[in-house]
Amino acid sequence: MSVDTVSLTGWGRTAPTTALRFRPRTYEEAAATVRGCGPRGSIARGLGRAHGDAAQNAGGSVLDMTALNRIRTIDAATGLVVCDAGVSLHRLMEVLLPLGWFVPVTPATRYVTVGGAIGADIHGRNHHFSGSFSRHVQQLELLTAEGEIRTVRPGTDLFHATAGGLGLTGVILSATLRCHRVTSSWMSVDTERTIDLDDLLARLSAGDHRYRYSAAWIDLLARGRATGRSVLTRGEHVPRYALPARARHTPLAFNPGQLPATPALVPEGLLSRTSVALFNELRYRTAPKYRIGELQRLSTFFHPLDCLPHWNRIHGRGGSVRYQFVVGHGQEETLRRIVRRISHRRCPSLLAVLKRFGAGDPGWLSFPMPGWTLALDLPAALPGLARFLDSLDEEVAGAGGRVCLAKDSRLRPQMLAAMYPRLADFRSLRAELDPNGAFRSDLSRRLSL
Ligand SMILES: Cc1cc2nc3c(=O)[nH]c(=O)nc-3n(C[C@H](O)[C@H](O)[C@H](O)COP(=O)(O)OP(=O)(O)OC[C@H]3O[C@@H](n4cnc5c(N)ncnc54)[C@H](O)[C@@H]3O)c2cc1C
Repeated sequence: MSVDTVSLTGWGRTAPTTALRFRPRTYEEAAATVRGCGPRGSIARGLGRAHGDAAQNAGGSVLDMTALNRIRTIDAATGLVVCDAGVSLHRLMEVLLPLGWFVPVTPATRYVTVGGAIGADIHGRNHHFSGSFSRHVQQLELLTAEGEIRTVRPGTDLFHATAGGLGLTGVILSATLRCHRVTSSWMSVDTERTIDLDDLLARLSAGDHRYRYSAAWIDLLARGRATGRSVLTRGEHVPRYALPARARHTPLAFNPGQLPATPALVPEGLLSRTSVALFNELRYRTAPKYRIGELQRLSTFFHPLDCLPHWNRIHGRGGSVRYQFVVGHGQEETLRRIVRRISHRRCPSLLAVLKRFGAGDPGWLSFPMPGWTLALDLPAALPGLARFLDSLDEEVAGAGGRVCLAKDSRLRPQMLAAMYPRLADFRSLRAELDPNGAFRSDLSRRLSL
């Protein structure tokens, strides 16, 4: 097992902290690391795609799980997969697609591990259809604070605390996943431009049930009557028989391309209000007003940014803050007000995505609940950002909504109980399971989880 001392951040590249990083290659090595961790405890880390500090542990241990990356069994008839927690969704796609299976839920990057996907109970563009990742987990193996391995099944408190539990109930070693049957690696994509936020909400409400996948990019710099204008893209897997002849030869091929990495030194101010406004204007105007049935590769539809390694450097040395919240159906006025406030403030957000969540999932700290979710990336160095986001938190909590903890780097702890009603259950299970605090992270200390 390799061990080194490293400075780590999340994908947003803010608040680096130093930890002892262990890279276990076996379950026994992982157990020995947890048993031997010092008073600052330990936390599992996957591919470090959480935006904030969920997979950091200042002065303690971090278990880099990426060497535990075996796909143990695949039942090609039923789509049941047993794999180590350090396997990435990218690797699963490479192996499963040729067999006609696809991961049940994918976030907007495929460079996340199965452990990270359960730890954050991730959602994809199909939440309204398929729920979040842990809904598709049949069981998992969890390494607990005493170094024991427990089999954990849905319907139990330990499962509900672990799904979305940000690594704080233990280290997930492996999982059994139910995958989704596909007969091609192509998507049929419908695109619509909406003139404002109300137009978008109406189209999502009226039509989402017809699509497995749906998300809208919003131009958050548009103001006045155009506030919340967006490009809505919705898609479905294309059955093999419906492919054009040239694609039918290799219907399940999966060859996502890669561009050269973003340079380490990106000029400061690249993402100014003016440049982002220009980019947004272009993006909106060049999108089709209405186009149906466009054939796209899976990687283009789900993970367009993955072809550009280290694209998080685009925010420069200051890094970025991701803000994602959800408010329930019936709270559209809160959503409108928040979008108006962001637009009015001229926050330069390139990536702002609105989705409609379906039924919530049982994870005690799982983020999704039925309603509207908006995610945006902002330069961390934006003047007054902290106070502005604090005030948005208050609106969100006041409307019975919540912010996503896996993406958070700045929430105030006093907001948490209002946003996550099962927080007390989570804390008491953790106190019982791990009285000496073997599992801790920068996020757990910051929010007193
Ligand atoms: C470009 C981009 C797009 C994204 N899009 C989405 C999206 O659409 N939907 C969404 O939900 N999320 C999205 N995310 C967030 C991302 O999916 C989650 O943060 C995910 O948890 C990252 O997985 P990871 O393997 O990198 O985990 P890390 O970032 O390393 O860790 C995340 C959390 O999981 C825990 N964890 C990791 N491995 C284990 C393990 N083996 N056992 C126990 N706990 C573990 C960690 O302790 C930590 O709390 C996006 C992130 C990026 C960078």
